[in-house]
Amino acid sequence: MNCCICGKDAGKYGHSAQPVMKGQCCDECNMNKVVPARLKRAPTKVVTLKDYVKRERKQKWSDKKIAETLFYLGYSDKEIEEAM
Ligand SMILES: [Zn+2]
Repeated sequence: MNCCICGKDAGKYGHSAQPVMKGQCCDECNMNKVVPARLKRAPTKVVTLKDYVKRERKQKWSDKKIAETLFYLGYSDKEIEEAM
């Protein structure tokens, strides 16, 4: 399938592009656009991180991938550890 944001190949399943777009997006847009948009929407940072981890676990992301994404977004090791 093609990414609904950039049109590139999003692999077999892609990621949910909510709240940026309806549809599925590629890894790159997920990291660069969708995840930051989701994190911005929640009221406080700590709640956001925990909710984020919960949500991504439901989507069958590995803890390693979740931690890498959070690290990429600029969270410290300690913040990530607390959220997991
Ligand atoms: Zn994309």
